[in-house]
Amino acid sequence: MNKAINIRMMIVATIAILFTALLSTFCYYRVFQEEVLEDLEVYARILSDMDSVESEKYAEELSKSEIRMTIISENGEVIFDNVADVSGLENHRSRAEIKAAYSVGEGYSVRKSESLRYSNYYYAVRLPNGGVIRTAKKTSSIFNIFGHAFPYVILIVMVILIISYIISRLLTRSIVLPVEKMADSIMGEGDKFTGEKKIYSELVPVMEHIRSQHEDLLNKQNIRQEFTANVSHELKTPLTSISGYSELIENGMTDEETTRKFAGEIHAGADRMLVLINDILRLSEMDTSDESLTMEDVDIHKIALDCQAMLEPMAEKHSVTVHVSGEKCVVYANKSMMEELMYNLCDNAIRYNNPNGNVWIETSDQRLSVKDDGIGISKENQERVFERFFRVDKSRSRKTGGTGLGLAIVKHIVELSNAKLIVNSSEGQGTEMIVDFKS
Ligand code: ADP
Repeated sequence: MNKAINIRMMIVATIAILFTALLSTFCYYRVFQEEVLEDLEVYARILSDMDSVESEKYAEELSKSEIRMTIISENGEVIFDNVADVSGLENHRSRAEIKAAYSVGEGYSVRKSESLRYSNYYYAVRLPNGGVIRTAKKTSSIFNIFGHAFPYVILIVMVILIISYIISRLLTRSIVLPVEKMADSIMGEGDKFTGEKKIYSELVPVMEHIRSQHEDLLNKQNIRQEFTANVSHELKTPLTSISGYSELIENGMTDEETTRKFAGEIHAGADRMLVLINDILRLSEMDTSDESLTMEDVDIHKIALDCQAMLEPMAEKHSVTVHVSGEKCVVYANKSMMEELMYNLCDNAIRYNNPNGNVWIETSDQRLSVKDDGIGISKENQERVFERFFRVDKSRSRKTGGTGLGLAIVKHIVELSNAKLIVNSSEGQGTEMIVDFKS
């Protein structure tokens, strides 16, 4: 990047110098031309006011300063010339400046020599006798002038190139350095750039955006890795017990009653794995499914009543009473997801309850509330319970058949249903989970 900026700066400098040299030569040449013509005009006028003897004498003087004077007759014949031999000169009638002098009294012209190295300037004035007096001067042409100046221009170009190379190196360093710093800072190798003085403020929002995307990516990667590790760990526990019990049976070390007991353990372990795999599949389905969900009007009051009936045996086992109140409550959502949401919330409210506890399900005005007077969740864990595999009390969760994924699934469903989830809970008092569909 530094090199590219350096080269560009030097190209710009070279173009600028050449352009300036050309333009200033051209301007200078224009002024020079005008001056030469003005001089010639003055001489021609003075000469035209003199008689022939005086003018020829004066012409002698002029030839010293390389000014040529020519007198041309009425019909274009050269009568006098202070430089050339008159006899060898052709008729001048058709020369532009002479023609103009014949017709309007005066005229001028500039002609280049064949080699283009010189320019001849002519100024002609008509004499009272009908002839014309002409002054002329030979000067270097613009090409010649530029040719002379060219070595100096090259010298200046080289000096300026060296200077601009040094300046551009310093400049690019100071331009590029903050960008490099930002790149480091995005990759987490440098300081955070907010508050850094040497960084372009215009780039900070872009860099913040890239940085947050980068962090997001890293986070997602971490979460995925952690999830895989957790899944393996969760599957390992029931598999270890299945493997252990079946090995004992295989070795013929158990009597019939123990075999039956062990088979029961194996069955429970396999069931646990099935529940776990089912939850994992549900989550990954919701993570990856990009096809739109079938949304419809769903009465969550009806779902609450069905759920109460379905969980009745479990509630009885935990000595918990489930109450349903409220009224018909239609929300626009995916039906099986609503059933799953209701099930997970009520299941938790029963499992994390005390004997003789209560669960109240209430549906009203686009809002579902599942409340219990169970063990509650401490303030610091209220956010974390929605993380995958997070449990406040691992053994209680396992013992009651929990996977640590129920609330993660709930959170996902709530997001996909464009609803809002509110947790009110205090340790030892109970928990209320509210799903608000108004949005
Ligand atoms: P689990 O399968 O362990 O129940 P969840 O994701 O459903 O997993 O819940 C995560 C954790 O949140 C549970 O382990 C439990 O500690 C806590 N929790 C969930 N619901 C309740 C509740 N109603 N009362 C108290 N704690 C709860």
